[in-house]
Amino acid sequence: MPSSPAISVVVPLYNEEDNIVNLQRELDQALAGLDYELVLVDDGSSDATVSRVQPGDRVRLLCFVKNAGQSAAMHAGIHAARGDVVVTIDGDLQNDPKDIPALVKKLDEGFDLVCGYRAKRKDTAFKRLQSRIANGVRRSFIGDGVRDTGCTLKAMRRECREALLPFNGMHRFIPALIASMGYRVTEVPVNHRPRTAGISKYGFGNRAWRATMDMFGVRWLNSRRVRYQVK
Ligand code: UDP
Ligand code: MG
Repeated sequence: MPSSPAISVVVPLYNEEDNIVNLQRELDQALAGLDYELVLVDDGSSDATVSRVQPGDRVRLLCFVKNAGQSAAMHAGIHAARGDVVVTIDGDLQNDPKDIPALVKKLDEGFDLVCGYRAKRKDTAFKRLQSRIANGVRRSFIGDGVRDTGCTLKAMRRECREALLPFNGMHRFIPALIASMGYRVTEVPVNHRPRTAGISKYGFGNRAWRATMDMFGVRWLNSRRVRYQVK
């Protein structure tokens, strides 16, 4: 495998034993003909996720000692990525790998981060409602200009990763953090599918309050971020 592929696809995985095989198959099909690597990050799964990973020339697997959270897994994967372009995607098949080529192509229009938004979301009504409220509040409070940060499917130029400070909850503020460094951010609609295997790792109790607190932190951070240009 070349030491610097064109595209790195980063996947956080926590107990996705019944999704990983199909996910790898779909990724390989969707990315056929492209120069890519898969950076699979096992976030301390207690099931058979790791043993079901199909090894290959394009596959790199990072295994956490214990569960450290989606932000940690994504941060580790994004920083291990060697591609000029880094794509992030969920490991539960809710995002569709077929959307990846279009996201990557959109970067060529002069964008640094392309965020997928789930135009027709396939989650429960309660989850969609929570998400709609959270996105509305976050958008007006932080002004990140994107409608759906909860959609993990994103493509960024690798240098954008410097904006991603490692805190628990970071994965919900990727556009906010990257945009505040002056990078150009846009959105494209992407497919979304119901979760058919495994369980969601989030509910109202472990998301709403934390994400609200994080929002204040990110607003503060972005307001105090140093910005300078060297002559
Ligand atoms: N995930 C992870 N660590 C965690 C929780 C989730 O790596 O502590 C992964 C999970 O395996 C999935 C992605 O993050 O690939 C999104 O999680 P989930 O599908 O549960 O979130 P939802 O779609 O319900 O928002
Ligand atoms: Mg999911």
